[in-house]
Amino acid sequence: MRIIDLHCDTLTECEKRGLTLLSGQTQLAFDRLGVDGWCQAVAVFMPDTLRGREAVEYFDRVYAFWLAQQDAHRGAFAEAKNLAEDCMPSPECPTAFLTVEGGSVLAGDLSRIAMLAQRGVRMLALTWNGANELGGGQAEDIGLTPIGRQAIPLLEQHGIIVDVSHLGDKGFWEVAGLAKRPFVASHSNARAICGHPRNLTDDQFKAIVQAGGLVGINFYTCFISQDGRDPSPRKLVEHIHHFAALGGEDHIALGSDYDGASVPDWMDRSEKLDCAISLMIKSGLEPALAEKICYKNARAFFARYGADAVGRNHT
Ligand SMILES: [Zn+2]
Repeated sequence: MRIIDLHCDTLTECEKRGLTLLSGQTQLAFDRLGVDGWCQAVAVFMPDTLRGREAVEYFDRVYAFWLAQQDAHRGAFAEAKNLAEDCMPSPECPTAFLTVEGGSVLAGDLSRIAMLAQRGVRMLALTWNGANELGGGQAEDIGLTPIGRQAIPLLEQHGIIVDVSHLGDKGFWEVAGLAKRPFVASHSNARAICGHPRNLTDDQFKAIVQAGGLVGINFYTCFISQDGRDPSPRKLVEHIHHFAALGGEDHIALGSDYDGASVPDWMDRSEKLDCAISLMIKSGLEPALAEKICYKNARAFFARYGADAVGRNHT
């Protein structure tokens, strides 16, 4: 099986703990993927406590670490510079692309969007759980700020995919109204199956589908089932089937949240994922749907997102 994973915190975790991306001490490591090809979104996680210059310096530090890791492990993985072309790597050399989790990375300065795009950031979650200069997360649901509303078209112009995971419900609907290009929820499940506010309501999922977007299935036990009581393959498949029944079969992907969350032991390391998919298939996931979720939908999304940029007038 091939894998395209829309979210992990491995880069941030390694920088914080003084590890390398191939240390073997993280849930995800590029030297033990065990699949036919893997393309990984690596997030710079922005703590809600950082603002302004502190946030900028923090991002710069993790970004410098990202560059240093690429230099140190040349051949072990490569940066996916063009997602439409580089999201289907060979088994020998996985690819990875940079994302940011938290709009505080802009420090309220929209001119930083161009710099982020130039540095290879391909996706931005507008908030983490709290509020920042762009808007309110699910724990502080104040909607988008005026700067947040202005950020949407600028991100779209610069090819940075807008990510609504962690965003509060109010902000979600503002993004849905403002977005001219497809947007994503990189790591969120179905609220109808597990009623956590980080998961998506049916209407939210349908809005993402309508926009041509993508939703990454999160492996966090507490987003799979209430209080993590039943993080079984069968339960995770319930989320997928629920989304598929809403007309979203072509809009479900993976957003593992590796190294950012406690995930069930049957899939708690990247090298277990191939086997975990087999367990999900044994629990009722159709093999063709499994292939779509693992990589085909994300591949189609990246192609669609690229094509959508051509000739679009963002006035
Ligand atoms: Zn997250």
